[in-house]
Amino acid sequence: MLELEAARELILAAIQPLPPECIPVSAAVGRVAAAAVHAPLDLPPFDNSAMDGYAVRASDLVGAGAETPVALKLAGRVPAGEIFTSPVEPGTCVRIFTGSPLPPGADAVVMQEDTRLAPEQPDTVSFLDRAKPLENLRLRGEDVKRGTPLLVAGDDVNAGAAALFAALGLSEISVGRRPQIGLLATGSELIEAGQPLAPGKIYESNRVGLAALIARAGGVPRVFPLVPDTRAATRAALETAFVDCDGVVTSGGVSVGEHDHVKDAFAQLGGETGFWKVAIKPGKPFVFGRWRGKFLFGLPGNPVSAFVTFLLLVRPALRRWQGATRWNLPAHPGVLAETLANSGDRRHFVRVYVDDSGAVRSAGPQASHILGSLARANGLVDVPPRSQLTVGLVVPVLRWEF
Ligand code: AMP
Ligand code: MG
Repeated sequence: MLELEAARELILAAIQPLPPECIPVSAAVGRVAAAAVHAPLDLPPFDNSAMDGYAVRASDLVGAGAETPVALKLAGRVPAGEIFTSPVEPGTCVRIFTGSPLPPGADAVVMQEDTRLAPEQPDTVSFLDRAKPLENLRLRGEDVKRGTPLLVAGDDVNAGAAALFAALGLSEISVGRRPQIGLLATGSELIEAGQPLAPGKIYESNRVGLAALIARAGGVPRVFPLVPDTRAATRAALETAFVDCDGVVTSGGVSVGEHDHVKDAFAQLGGETGFWKVAIKPGKPFVFGRWRGKFLFGLPGNPVSAFVTFLLLVRPALRRWQGATRWNLPAHPGVLAETLANSGDRRHFVRVYVDDSGAVRSAGPQASHILGSLARANGLVDVPPRSQLTVGLVVPVLRWEF
């Protein structure tokens, strides 16, 4: 049976990034940059004031103090968004505001709180403190210098990066296309939420959870109708989904029972199975296959198995399709507040809840049909076969909820 890492390598090697597309920066958060982005300008684009106050020549205020105020002549004012072109002469100052360009000749700004105005002398400002050169200034290019790489191909565009691009006047960015992912749920026992629950039936839940995970991983989920457990229906549903999508995710029907049709239906369609079964719990049965340049991810039907195998094996594929260079779930260190044991012979990805202090506890019963503990969990801990991870141990927690 394949180890998780080997299975993931096979998937990542098979999938090539989709062609990039140009989109507005305002829509780019959550997408993956397809090319390096360089700063087209200096940021800030000009020297400007960090305060409301007065632009001065620092050398004019060498002797200024609370007991020894220095008076300078007010030569004008420069609101934000305007410029002041005449130089600040020795012995003068210019009223300035946060973000206003520094007038030529000035080399510092004194904040308003360190000055006094006398109503009878509106053209004179008294300074109660000295000024160091460059004080209260925001210098051109001190944030980002023109030409600096802001991100490289494969990086995620986060909200901060989008704001930075906007500040640099960028309106569009090239990003990896989002893969279209068909979602099929197989099982004659399944009915749609909202319908009356008939004897022996259960409500279908995998498509809801998986559609959310697909969207969060940057894919576009395409939800197809329920598929009853016959080979013909399974084959027809796969064919329909493959025509429209880059990849198809199925749930159920990949085990060894006579009602499990996904593998055979896929083979009948001409699909080529890459591998079946990965040495992890939950989620041993997992099919990866290729059909005419498109891919099948056949997940087990048990809700937690489907969810966890998606996170560990399908999410990386979605990231790869978009050209991302980081595909695994983020792993954050946490401290075990309870012992986690695995008596089985496969690695167990245990559902845990990690609290804000980093303490990690089991999220509850771990059987692969137990959705209650999945709903309480925000991470997974990889517990090796036949082992115990004891209280106090620092472990990587694979996070998918924050
Ligand atoms: P299977 O992998 O098809 O043998 O299904 C394993 C278990 O998961 C069975 O108890 C199914 O009823 C259940 N199951 C399969 N698909 C779904 C689904 N889409 N939603 C909820 N439960 C499911
Ligand atoms: Mg089934």
